[in-house]
Amino acid sequence: MQNQPAIEISALRKTYENGVEALKGVSLSVQPGDFFALLGPNGAGKSTLIGVVSSLVNSSSGEVNVFGINLQKQRSEAMRQIGLVPQEINFNMFEKPFDICVNYAGFYGMDRKTAILRAEEELKRAQLWDKAHMMSRTLSGGMKRRLMIARAMMTQPRLLILDEPTAGVDIEIRRGMWKTLREANQAGTTVILTTHYLEEAENLCRNLAIIDKGKIIEQGPMKTLLAKLDVEGFLLDIEGVLPANLPQIDKVSIHATDDHTLDIEKPRAMDLNHIFSQLNQAGIQVRSMRNKVNRLEELFVKLTGDTSKAA
Ligand code: ADP
Repeated sequence: MQNQPAIEISALRKTYENGVEALKGVSLSVQPGDFFALLGPNGAGKSTLIGVVSSLVNSSSGEVNVFGINLQKQRSEAMRQIGLVPQEINFNMFEKPFDICVNYAGFYGMDRKTAILRAEEELKRAQLWDKAHMMSRTLSGGMKRRLMIARAMMTQPRLLILDEPTAGVDIEIRRGMWKTLREANQAGTTVILTTHYLEEAENLCRNLAIIDKGKIIEQGPMKTLLAKLDVEGFLLDIEGVLPANLPQIDKVSIHATDDHTLDIEKPRAMDLNHIFSQLNQAGIQVRSMRNKVNRLEELFVKLTGDTSKAA
């Protein structure tokens, strides 16, 4: 079980009763110890995916395994591996943080004595110990969010899942939560979060998947993805017929799509004239050019252009 992926999802589909196909065959794998972001615009299917993994939503078809445990066949065993932090604050505001944590653990079958010790540990970790016996409604917004994480950590889940944990919260609270999540991850917990803030994913996560319209459109290490974003592509129409041997230009990928069209990808910072002059030297005259549409970049423009993005 040790080397099993924390999450292995294959061909997952979800069609809601109203006919909306929220997931159209999603396959995804998250390794143990990872800090993983599921990034996508509103309506992409993030909450549905998290809902299926945390057993709040029934899938239409497909398979989910949590540390090798099949979610459909061994639901409660799989669920024991997961701590869920939902999007909305959902504890009783008239309960005290200490009781919220202890009762939550009791619901998952932990004996009271252990739960009391664990509550102290988690509330201290969340820097809420001095508020442990205050009415929860008196906590600040940031403290309430940290309490949600402390509660989810009570059962020492191997996998912590957060659905848009920082949606609509100010930057200071967000940074505080990032710290808490980083610490949980450093202590060995696999963390998966959904977000539509590129900045958040970039700051926290090692790997990510981008979901759009119910499909995973990109998946891999954050570094690889960011490197892709620094590249832009053009299609060049050239005069006459291309020579058999194309020139090589440092840091530029060049290939012919037909006898008179070149497909190039260059670092964004590189001047196009540099490429044109190199092509000229090789006897290639550019007649016209078009921007190559980059689906990923388009999506990111949409994401980062989101008006709800904090400063
Ligand atoms: P995200 O979390 O990325 O914003 P969601 O998973 O909430 O996306 O939604 C994906 C799609 O499924 C959207 O078109 C949404 O309107 C639809 N949807 C979500 N929940 C339900 C539901 N309970 N019933 C019907 N349609 C839903």
